[in-house]
Amino acid sequence: MTETGASPVTHATLRVPLTLTSGIDRMFPTLTPAQVERIAAHGHVRQIRPGEVLVQQGDQIVPFFVVTTGGVEIVRPSGTSETLVALYGPGQFTGEVNMLSGRPALLQVRASEAGEVIEVDRERLLALVQTDSQLSEIIMRAFIVRRVELIAHGLGDVVLLGSNHCAATLRVKEFLTRNGHPYSYIDLDRDDDVQVLLDRFHVTVADVPVLICRGEVVLRSPTNQQIADCLGFNEAIDQTKIRDVVIVGAGPAGLAAAVYAASEGLDVLVVETNSPGGQAGSSSKIENYLGFPTGISGQALAGRAYTQAQKFGAQVIIAKGAKQLACDRMPYAIEIDDGLRVPARTVILATGAAYRKPSIENLPQFEGAGVYYGATFMEAQLCRDEEAVVVGGGNSAGQAAVFLAQTAKRVHMLVRSKGLAESMSRYLIRRIEENPAIVLRTNTEIVALEGSNHLERVRWRDHQSGNIETHDIRHVFLMTGAVPGTKWIEGCVALDAKGFIKTGPDLSQEDLAAAHWPLARAPHLLETSLPGVFAVGDVRGGNIKRVASAVGEGSIAISFVHQALHQ
Ligand SMILES: Cc1cc2nc3c(=O)[nH]c(=O)nc-3n(C[C@H](O)[C@H](O)[C@H](O)COP(=O)(O)OP(=O)(O)OC[C@H]3O[C@@H](n4cnc5c(N)ncnc54)[C@H](O)[C@@H]3O)c2cc1C
Repeated sequence: MTETGASPVTHATLRVPLTLTSGIDRMFPTLTPAQVERIAAHGHVRQIRPGEVLVQQGDQIVPFFVVTTGGVEIVRPSGTSETLVALYGPGQFTGEVNMLSGRPALLQVRASEAGEVIEVDRERLLALVQTDSQLSEIIMRAFIVRRVELIAHGLGDVVLLGSNHCAATLRVKEFLTRNGHPYSYIDLDRDDDVQVLLDRFHVTVADVPVLICRGEVVLRSPTNQQIADCLGFNEAIDQTKIRDVVIVGAGPAGLAAAVYAASEGLDVLVVETNSPGGQAGSSSKIENYLGFPTGISGQALAGRAYTQAQKFGAQVIIAKGAKQLACDRMPYAIEIDDGLRVPARTVILATGAAYRKPSIENLPQFEGAGVYYGATFMEAQLCRDEEAVVVGGGNSAGQAAVFLAQTAKRVHMLVRSKGLAESMSRYLIRRIEENPAIVLRTNTEIVALEGSNHLERVRWRDHQSGNIETHDIRHVFLMTGAVPGTKWIEGCVALDAKGFIKTGPDLSQEDLAAAHWPLARAPHLLETSLPGVFAVGDVRGGNIKRVASAVGEGSIAISFVHQALHQ
């Protein structure tokens, strides 16, 4: 994906898609006269002149247009040149997923011929897709497929200059990708015309990664928050009004809560410190989530959930984390990164957990491809009759080793300390000692993982001898525990010994007394020790750390939110 910006008009018309060979009807559907009429009831008729700009790239207010006569074109301006992206004729409509989020226009919308369009503002379009299921299906599908094509062709408002050997470049790429934002990428190590761009924007190689927003703003080695600000990710969101529910964290649990809350008419704001998707977003393939027999990548699942939440009107603040909860008065208020306080009648805590990870440079490359954070029946099948490594000295690591030893040829248990006695239950230690398939290696640590598409080799160091051994092992289980995202909420809700949030029946009388629980009723199922504040997903004590349980808890929490709101 490179942008050369050479000729004055480049044609990259998606009407004759660059890669797509089927599905054009889904991307550019033509509505029936009856469907156009239903949309017309929500908007007004507007005459257009050839060349008239209906939406400028970067415009914050972007209406939806249905062409009734004449034509409209979609163009990406780029310096002195431009790229023709799509052409719409009678019965066709403009827009892509930014229409749902209210983010600035990625591209320019311009009349290609004189004619007439129906103009519908964004709020009315949202109301339409929430109530007219037939139009919703056609419009949502077109928006999503168009965005996929824009991403595939790097057709957007961002150019990223970087190097694949630079960690900051990879972070920026991941941030844009996980936010579903199309961008053109110029690799300093590979592209010949880099110097032209460096000169044009007065940047040097030392500045990379460099992000150019709409050909105007140049960001040198930007933070995720700077990128979100530059691209207007949060501009359309009113961060001051009191919400029915503020959800902290946009992993599977938070997104599920957002979909259910918004679809049931609640005013929902989600606050996410990074990008939607959470841990699941980094999973290359989730194979055990109901309804996806061939598996689905975490990124695809998160992308769909994010769009679904926005379709129902949920708003998601990106790249701004919750710093503090003002929990001593109602409504509650969540203080976010830039000091703003977001008021909320109820709160859902869905901040997940981060697995403790050894500092091995290429670890992410093998996550889901040889490196696992849980040992279930599925993972056990993957290493049947093969050797596996379990890292960790706690009970979860011991249980994993014993479990995997039933199917694996051999399980190497690697612990940094000199033994298990201090960290593991006695019964597990005995089972490990008695199991000939388990080899306990104390004072030992992984130093390197090797392989291409899948883990192939592991190197570990014995700290006593200093020896490094290399083994052809394709499966490593990191069972070194997870750290819950609860630091910022300490003092407001009761936590268990490991820092996970206690909810419902797990809250003892002592917990409730210490928290000054003010109500006659007991806390609801997922309610914390603070009335109207709920915890769902990995951050909740006792939660089963799976996508399905996160989604399930996020969904059912909303029925308790309704009860809390009506209290
Ligand atoms: C590599 C990998 C592969 C996995 N594969 C599978 C699998 O195949 N099947 C399966 O069922 N499970 C799998 N899991 C587990 C699954 O992903 C988690 O159980 C699930 O994502 C938990 O969802 P959650 O929403 O509770 O938390 P998370 O996914 O952890 O999401 C929490 C979100 O909250 C945000 N956040 C944290 N703190 C703040 C704050 N202060 N302010 C704002 N936002 C904040 C985070 O940025 C994050 O986006 C996998 C996990 C990993 C890491």
